[in-house]
Amino acid sequence: MVITDITFEVKKFRFEEPMKIAFATITDMETCIIKVMTDEGITGFGEAAPFPYVTGDNLETVISVGRDLREALIGTDPRSIGTVHRIMDSMYAGNTAVKAGIDIACYDISSKSAGLPLYKFLGGSDPHLTSDVTIGIDTPERMAETALSWVRKGFGIIKVKLGEDIRTDAARIRAIREAVGEDVAIRIDANQGWTVRDAITISRELDKLGVDLIEQPVPGHDFDGLAEIRRSSPVRVAADESCHSIYDASWLARMRAVDVVNIKLMKCGGIYNAIKISAICEAAGIPCMIGCMGESTLANLAGMHLAAATDNIRDIDLDSVYILKQEDVYGGYDHEGGNVTLWDDPGIGCTVKGD
Ligand SMILES: [Mg+2]
Repeated sequence: MVITDITFEVKKFRFEEPMKIAFATITDMETCIIKVMTDEGITGFGEAAPFPYVTGDNLETVISVGRDLREALIGTDPRSIGTVHRIMDSMYAGNTAVKAGIDIACYDISSKSAGLPLYKFLGGSDPHLTSDVTIGIDTPERMAETALSWVRKGFGIIKVKLGEDIRTDAARIRAIREAVGEDVAIRIDANQGWTVRDAITISRELDKLGVDLIEQPVPGHDFDGLAEIRRSSPVRVAADESCHSIYDASWLARMRAVDVVNIKLMKCGGIYNAIKISAICEAAGIPCMIGCMGESTLANLAGMHLAAATDNIRDIDLDSVYILKQEDVYGGYDHEGGNVTLWDDPGIGCTVKGD
């Protein structure tokens, strides 16, 4: 089987509510749906969801780099995923979103060709997962209301965006904890918004409020800062913007800088590299989370299949399926609140409108 063509189509999705995080407010987002065609008639679907602040690429680069990768990949067996990555990496450093989109489509083809849902193709057996849902930055009162509305919809884990001044941030969590009660798990994501001193100070307060994880308190490059926070914080510390690659994962592990690593397919170039990052972390005793950018159900589902197949990926932060309006991508899973069941159709399992 060989690749005969790759196409790129930009689609726009609106958020149900504007999402504010420490360095941006997002009302809608565009992603690129990638289709990989083969000479055996099997088509694979992938998605590139670049996020310039984090991945350094954008939709224009996804498409221009994607066209070059297309030329080089035509004639390659999409099931030879190591070869696909070798070709992509030999042409372009970085550009992880487009690489992830092509990678996801190739895994879709491989699992369809094996007649298995992707999670089984990757070695898993259990199609059930539980995801958190993310709340953007707002006033403490409004964030508490939003949190409560998600809990009423059946979510037991809330991820809260923070990263502004730590007094207001602490007030936000106090309000949310008061609204949702003791039984809801709360994890927070500061998106690089604090200093080391801020993070250590607020960690004690967050611990008292039952927060179970602090994600990316300081800028992504500050591995020493993360390690310092981890040594002093009673709450677990996670890396997100600090970990894009197997090399980042290896350094974070060697420096004992974090308790958890948040893997995102768009940061690392897809499932192939995500598996390696998880293995590096597992060997170092570091569990992983899987997260997402503003992406549609398609890329979210790819992450869910990977998580369902990977013991070391314990925390699921794949919530664009709940917070995005989308009519163009559907199916592939059922959910009740944050509890997801993946379908057993071969491949990723969702349908892209018009195909
Ligand atoms: Mg994050």
